Amino acid sequence: MSYQKIKGTPDFLPEDTNKWQYIENHAKEILARYQFKEVRTPIFEQFELFSRGVGETSDIVSKEMYDFYDKGNRHIALRPEGTAGVVRSYVENKLYGPEHHKPLKYYYIAPMFRYERPQKGRMRQFHQLGVEVFGSSNPATDVETMALAMDIFKSFNIKNLKLVINSLGNIETRKIYRQALINYLEPHFDDLSKDSKERLYKNPLRVLDSKNKKDKEIVAEAPSILDYLDENSKNNFETVKEYLEALDINYEIDNNMVRGLDYYNDTIFEIMTEDPDFGSNTTVCAGGRYDGLVEEIGGPSTPGFGFGIGLERLVMLLENMEYDFPEVAALDIFIVTIGKETNKEAIKLASVLRAAGLNVEREFLNRKPAKQFKTADKLNAKYVFTLGENELNKGTINVKLLETGKETVLSLDKVSKGNIVEYLEEIENSLKD
Ligand code: ATP
Ligand code: MG
Repeated sequence: MSYQKIKGTPDFLPEDTNKWQYIENHAKEILARYQFKEVRTPIFEQFELFSRGVGETSDIVSKEMYDFYDKGNRHIALRPEGTAGVVRSYVENKLYGPEHHKPLKYYYIAPMFRYERPQKGRMRQFHQLGVEVFGSSNPATDVETMALAMDIFKSFNIKNLKLVINSLGNIETRKIYRQALINYLEPHFDDLSKDSKERLYKNPLRVLDSKNKKDKEIVAEAPSILDYLDENSKNNFETVKEYLEALDINYEIDNNMVRGLDYYNDTIFEIMTEDPDFGSNTTVCAGGRYDGLVEEIGGPSTPGFGFGIGLERLVMLLENMEYDFPEVAALDIFIVTIGKETNKEAIKLASVLRAAGLNVEREFLNRKPAKQFKTADKLNAKYVFTLGENELNKGTINVKLLETGKETVLSLDKVSKGNIVEYLEEIENSLKD
């Protein structure tokens, strides 16, 4: 009997988790600057939360959900995206109450599950970094949140990014536009793809989003939603553009970009990479304003704005540019032990050094010193502390800075009783000259 992981799910081994931890820590620093706080919601929720929150006609709900009935016959789904769960939590925990500072700014970094055909950059378990802002309809929130997304990418030195924006107006606008779009598409019905034919009356805006070549040609001439915006939405969109310009953030407008879900309104955006190695125009972040969603999920009418970054794609971007990922848990000291007698001193020494806050590994297998030094090198240790019979007798330890290969001798007493971190700084300076 042999076991394999479920198709489309990942194992993250240490070389991967180092990258992921580094990326997460780094992103969290940027999120802190913007004062976003982390929330963690369950990995599974009631199926209906997603069918309501994401929309029945979306691909996610109609084709990609991992849903099942549990032993209590509850209809459950593994979350396909993060927003619905965070909104559910916002409503259930009454976070709209007056005791909470508005707007609330939340983020999550979490696995998502979609039953899709696995391929490069497309998994059945994948991960998103998402943010949600509740309680502000100020266009400055739209722009600040988009700026945050751009900042996260820029902080990794990612170039060739493109911010694409559009406005979907309000519900009234979309009703009128929806009809105009149907009127435009109907004469082309026979030429539309099968998916688009199905969507034409259910959710015609999604036809704009089609990846089918013929659909794209038809849609290129379609009426623009921007011509249907009311005064308020027009002003909002103008303000968003003005603030983006104030921040020197370049953007493009794509009036065919949609979200396909009824609750989205006004500003929507995507960040695409134009990295030629990566396949041009791949979306790495998508989001927008969803002033209707909290109410849809049973809370009071509350403006919202959010985005999701696909982390697998971020990792791929960084790997493609040969990003130099620093070791998250870098090794400070490797203890080389020579002779079985040193075992006890080595376990004590490692313990003392760790208590002082240093990252320490030691030899356990009593291998030849040359092998141990090789290991220290491979593990990228900063120092090698060597403990042999000689050192034991004298009560000393040999300290080598691997970067320069220079060595010195310390008394074991000094190491265990003094401030070893401070000594090491002095030693580092002396061994560097
Ligand atoms: P696509 O059109 O590529 O299927 P989507 O519209 O389904 O994307 P969203 O639901 O907006 O994507 O999710 C936001 C981001 O999450 C995407 O831009 C992508 O980077 C990432 N993403 C979505 N689905 C997957 C998946 N199955 N595997 C890996 N990343 C994914
Ligand atoms: Mg998809």
